[in-house]
Amino acid sequence: MIQRGNTGYKIYLFIIFVFVGILIWYSYSQNRPVEWNYTSLTEAVKTEPESISGVTISQNPEIPTGKVYFRSTHSSDKIVVNVSDVNETVRMLEAAGITVTLGDVERESYFMTTLLPVLLIIFALYLLLVFFNHSMAAASGGGRNMSDFGKSRAQMIIPGKNSVTFADVAGLREEKEDLEEIVDFLKDPKKYLALGARIPKGVLLVGAPGTGKTLLAKAVAGEANTPFFSISGSDFVEMFVGVGASRVRDLFAQAKVHAPCIVFIDEIDAVGRRRGTGMGGGHDEREQTLNQLLVEMDGFTINEGIIVMAATNRLDILDPALLRPGRFDRNIAVSKPDVRGREEILKVHAKNKPLADDVDLTELSRSTIGYTGADLENLMNESAISAAKDGRKFITKEDIEKSYIKMSVGTEKKSRIVAETEKKITAYHEAGHAILLHLLPNVGPVHTVSIIPTGAGAAGYTMPLPEKEDLMFHSKSKLLNDICADMGGRIAEDIIFGDVTTGATHDIKHATAIARRMVTEFGMSEAVGVLHFSEDDEVVVGRDLGHVRTYSEDTARKIDEEVKRIVDECYAKAYDLIKKHENVLHSCANLLLEKEKIMAPEFEALFVSES
Ligand code: ADP
Ligand code: MG
Ligand code: ZN
Repeated sequence: MIQRGNTGYKIYLFIIFVFVGILIWYSYSQNRPVEWNYTSLTEAVKTEPESISGVTISQNPEIPTGKVYFRSTHSSDKIVVNVSDVNETVRMLEAAGITVTLGDVERESYFMTTLLPVLLIIFALYLLLVFFNHSMAAASGGGRNMSDFGKSRAQMIIPGKNSVTFADVAGLREEKEDLEEIVDFLKDPKKYLALGARIPKGVLLVGAPGTGKTLLAKAVAGEANTPFFSISGSDFVEMFVGVGASRVRDLFAQAKVHAPCIVFIDEIDAVGRRRGTGMGGGHDEREQTLNQLLVEMDGFTINEGIIVMAATNRLDILDPALLRPGRFDRNIAVSKPDVRGREEILKVHAKNKPLADDVDLTELSRSTIGYTGADLENLMNESAISAAKDGRKFITKEDIEKSYIKMSVGTEKKSRIVAETEKKITAYHEAGHAILLHLLPNVGPVHTVSIIPTGAGAAGYTMPLPEKEDLMFHSKSKLLNDICADMGGRIAEDIIFGDVTTGATHDIKHATAIARRMVTEFGMSEAVGVLHFSEDDEVVVGRDLGHVRTYSEDTARKIDEEVKRIVDECYAKAYDLIKKHENVLHSCANLLLEKEKIMAPEFEALFVSES
């Protein structure tokens, strides 16, 4: 309320100032006489003296020069002529019968010539400032001033009762162990300094998004019971050059006051990108910010008790200078959780969520391969929302199933009306995928087959049961079977309708990508050999980032041929399999059209009744 009144008042002030400014400027320019030269005056006096009126002459003291002011019928403005000899001019004018008034030198007022322009400039600057302040306040939801601009935006978290501790971070055993010594150092720096131990100044947490890097950093602060300055790399990158650098300076100044403490720079890649690549325009600002960060990190000794932590998901793009000793000299890889880690994380996030008896977190942890901590948190949250929406007091297995599907394929759009013909095509398409997933080893088995459109834009989906183990790598035969399974949809359409649709676009893209990587990265093609040809390596070309191809045209052709061969062979193999089980294709599609969604037992029963 007060805030709004205040703002309104500022706007009025602003308008009034602008108005007054314009007025002053206008009258100032109006009063300025037009200058003529002396010849124009003598001409006018000679040819048409009647056009001249109101002549005032002012002479400079002691010298004969002066100014003649008059009005002419040819001009609406007052006219001024500089003359070198006033007496002579008076004589000439009086000879022509023009009355002349003699006056003093009309000093151009000091105010008009000197003071006013300066005032106007100051005034304009002031307006700019007010205006700027105003929009800044609006942009950040009020409360920020222009003078805060170069201040760091770090959020300071003072440890309290509800701060995050290691107990809130599930899994990540090794990571926590690595951080233990830092916690211990922050708790009692003297113990370490007495022994002359050198604790890392900077710790870099590296890991995929959602693996708990931010959480881990907070937990370190919570455990050590020290203040925690948290700022995101993108906060440093502003539209004005120099602001980022001054924010860094301010951040460390603040940290020094509160030491021992932790400075946490989240998503440091925003500022810490390799310098000199000329990426993303405006890199001067980023480089300045990065330089300042390096300066600050060199500028304090570890005795001061500041530990800088940073998080990134791309170690390879960071500037090497950041990783030098005395800066971020300790890397901690934060990995995606394994089965046990997932179970622990699920337990943490199920703590305040009442679960029904049919929910088995151990089983769930097994079927959520590849999920990060953030994914698992999201899964539990979605399930709780689903249960609450239905007015239930417990989260059931079904809630979790539903959320699981929602997270993998998007919300089912049950209400969307699908044309009958499209439904039929989708049913056969999905049945084609499902049959292959069932028959081929290493892929599948089928979990759900559905022809309900999804939020992700698919007309239906076939979801295999998640893998049973966390695999670090895949075999060639599995990859080939993946490609085969991708072909299933297109093949079914072809067999049944003799025509194909655009519905297989995504499948084809996926299959092609696997085949290409098999040839160029995994060394799985005999014709090309056990070689790695990646175009993803970012290479600095001159000062620009570019992608270079490191192989010949001939190899490029060979790669393309091999990719095509692999996909073609998979297509042929998949075609034979589906053709052999064409009756299952029909029965599965019909069942889908009837029920829209079928689960594993119903689907498997189709194969039993086949024989
Ligand atoms: P990152 O910074 O690596 O992207 P975050 O730390 O922001 O990931 O994690 C996001 C959320 O995921 C956390 O707030 C937390 O709820 C959950 N989470 C991630 N990892 C874990 C974990 N190991 N234990 C418990 N919760 C986790
Ligand atoms: Mg984060
Ligand atoms: Zn498909």
